[in-house]
Amino acid sequence: MMTVDVDKAKREVIRAGKQLVKKGLAARTWGNISMRISDTQFVITPSGLPYDTLTEDKIVTVNMSDVSYEGHVRPSSEAGIHADVYRLRPLAGAVIHTHQKAASAISVCQEGLFTKLEKERAVLGDVAPCTAYGMPGTKRLRRAVEKTLSEYPESKVFLLPKHGALLVDSDLESAFLAAETFEVASEREYRRMVGKNVSSGKRPPELTKALYIKIRRGCGAKHLIYSREEATLLFSKKGVKLSPWLDDLSQIAGVNIGCYSISDVKSIIKELRHKNAVFVKGYGALCTGDTKTDALAVKMILEKGCMAALYGEKAAGSRTLKSIDARIQRFVYRYHYSTGAYNK
Ligand SMILES: [Zn+2]
Repeated sequence: MMTVDVDKAKREVIRAGKQLVKKGLAARTWGNISMRISDTQFVITPSGLPYDTLTEDKIVTVNMSDVSYEGHVRPSSEAGIHADVYRLRPLAGAVIHTHQKAASAISVCQEGLFTKLEKERAVLGDVAPCTAYGMPGTKRLRRAVEKTLSEYPESKVFLLPKHGALLVDSDLESAFLAAETFEVASEREYRRMVGKNVSSGKRPPELTKALYIKIRRGCGAKHLIYSREEATLLFSKKGVKLSPWLDDLSQIAGVNIGCYSISDVKSIIKELRHKNAVFVKGYGALCTGDTKTDALAVKMILEKGCMAALYGEKAAGSRTLKSIDARIQRFVYRYHYSTGAYNK
């Protein structure tokens, strides 16, 4: 029977979390990390707490058999997936789940990723299969992951469609390396479809300060951030709504984010009263939040959502979220947010 020192495992989980944030593979409270401590238990990051505030007493010890846990801190809402991994893979020592940018963007085509590069294959294995869809934190997602784990016993990297990645390895360091390597491979796949970042000679137009102030006053947002990130700007040129391609996009920014001409300030303001983002045709997007951190998170999620849309439009078989699934997630997120569950 294998056993690992529990406190040491908790420290390793915290370190891996901070490392993920540092490398841009995780943000805020999104994603989760666990490490096996025995044949029957693992330790995992808690639900809804940012990585940079984690201390050992916030890392939860969970029983694999029924996902019951010790203490008063609630484990990550995806603890069931981690439990299934450890039960099905006796050699798995660590599991990381991320919403990393490029991997999430390419997950919309619901196909696995094959990499031909020898050095990447050494880390990732031959194929990173994609599971069936299930909303975050649901039994349906858990069952979908369980099925793919059984179907691909050799794989250790998985795509969760419209959501993110799951990395399974013998230890945290290896799982972390898999997350990084997978992001590089996913970014290459994204570029293969969408193309390189070609900034043409002409600089795209920018919103004036006066207009920004007018919109901010009009919509009443505490914080309004103007985004001209690459994919956001590119998408804004299309002049169409952004469909709910990713789970976190529909939760945090809104379902079907509108795009309006710069002369239609009234519609821009109206959209920002219901949603946390709006596109201004050819100019990029505006993102709102109660705090600056919230608005920045919307900006980041929107950029990822635009990447998913740009990729999804080109990659055959890609599909957006079902409208009902997207709306439920937006509702649940807003409800929890308003009750402070995400701020604790
Ligand atoms: Zn997730």
